[in-house]
Amino acid sequence: FRFSRRPDLGDSIRVSFEFFPPKTDEMEARLWETVTRLKPLHPDFVSVTYGAGGSTRERTARTVARILHQTHLAPAAHLTCIDASRDEVDAVIRQFAELGVKRFVALRGDPASGVGTGYQPHPQGYANGAEMVAALRRQGDFDISVSAYPEKHPESPDFATDIDMLKRKVDNGATRAITQFFFDNDIYERYVERVRRAGIYIPIVPGILPVHNIVQVANFSARAGAHVPAWLRERFDGLEADPQTHALVAAAVAAEQVQDLIERGVGDFHFYTMNRADLAYAVCHMIGIRPRPNEGASAKSAAA
Ligand code: FAD
Repeated sequence: FRFSRRPDLGDSIRVSFEFFPPKTDEMEARLWETVTRLKPLHPDFVSVTYGAGGSTRERTARTVARILHQTHLAPAAHLTCIDASRDEVDAVIRQFAELGVKRFVALRGDPASGVGTGYQPHPQGYANGAEMVAALRRQGDFDISVSAYPEKHPESPDFATDIDMLKRKVDNGATRAITQFFFDNDIYERYVERVRRAGIYIPIVPGILPVHNIVQVANFSARAGAHVPAWLRERFDGLEADPQTHALVAAAVAAEQVQDLIERGVGDFHFYTMNRADLAYAVCHMIGIRPRPNEGASAKSAAA
């Protein structure tokens, strides 16, 4: 059985968790339960997304500020340039820097109408992720993550164009790339080989999406530039009305994916949590990432 406990792993593996800014008080309470549950796992950082078209600017800032002020966690603020002038983006960077934010995820973003609906740069704006990295670098000595697409971005004509954009981001000062989620580790490995051949040496951190809802994942994956393999759908077949078994299968699938990546030499993982702790927590537990003994987090203490 491949998931026998590997207590040695926890020390050499680093994880980060991604959240989205909550819209309502109820969602805020749920996010905070999630943060409380995950924080004893000592993630390298936690990131907070920026809504389509910059629509969550204030909520992203509030969430990042709360993480900074109420936890020991290092927050990374996502930032997009879509629908914003350079002056507006620069002002948001200053606002985050004044809050004490030292990490960013620099992105282009998608039109509010959705991916692939015709991206147009703002006439006075930054045009893409690479220009966003340069804008951040001009303003401070930040840790800057960028996106990477193992199955290529849906708008990229080919892999060469896609990897060229990643190279521009690195040349402008990106320190790490986080991938779009994927389920087939061979695709990730081939992508990393291509990236290295292009002379890019920053960490390409796999983005892991524990499957909270297979139907939703299948619906948005094509737009996100990721495919859901038939074998994965098949594992969840018939579980639409059985959330408990769905969750157990999802934890097993994500743990299997992460374990396999570890065996291929990967040491950093970024979890798309969807603001829910359980699946990410379970996977971390299985790879040896656990609260320190005196921190003893449990589902109970998280709820307290
Ligand atoms: P870029 O890196 O600028 O470009 C993406 C690809 O498009 C490039 O690789 C390139 O091949 C192609 N491309 C761009 N410009 C050109 C051109 N002129 N000619 C030819 N090809 C071109 N979205 C949000 O709104 N908020 C978030 O918080 C957010 N967080 C994300 C976090 C991660 C880790 C990832 C992977 C994605 C995230 N996204 C987020 C989604 C992202 O905004 C979309 O995927 C968007 O379509 C592209 O943004 P980007 O920064 O990857 O773009």
